[in-house]
Amino acid sequence: MAKRPDLPWEGGCRCGQVRLRISAPPLVTMACHCTGCQRMSASAFSLSVAIPSEGFAVTQGEPIIGGMRGASRHYFCPHCMSWMFTRPEGLDFFVNLRATMLDDPSWYTPFIETWTSEKLAWAATPAVHSYPSLPAPDEFPGLLKEYAEQAETG
Ligand SMILES: [Zn+2]
Ligand SMILES: [Zn+2]
Repeated sequence: MAKRPDLPWEGGCRCGQVRLRISAPPLVTMACHCTGCQRMSASAFSLSVAIPSEGFAVTQGEPIIGGMRGASRHYFCPHCMSWMFTRPEGLDFFVNLRATMLDDPSWYTPFIETWTSEKLAWAATPAVHSYPSLPAPDEFPGLLKEYAEQAETG
């Protein structure tokens, strides 16, 4: 795994109309195998990195809401339609950035993977923790602590 670069990080969509800046260290990294992510990502699973909300900024362009348009808001570039980030329902303290929007995702690996009950038979990730659906809410503090510790020693 490549060393995580120093903050801030820059990122953007496929066409470059929407640009992002990340100025706070990630809380955790995740791969999601759910069928919704399979469709929205046009792939076997989605990759995300949870960024504290105060450390996430759109610096250029105006992302639009897409996906299921429900309580969790999925943001896309209005031109190239890249799925860029999600503001999950009831969890205002972080933004779930799609990891491959980062200009340099070379350091990225998913720490946890979710919805393995829906995964394609061959799909595998190097995640340390796997869940058939989602971790229980009371597991998150321990997971975030463990992620922070391994990211430091990294
Ligand atoms: Zn774009
Ligand atoms: Zn998913």
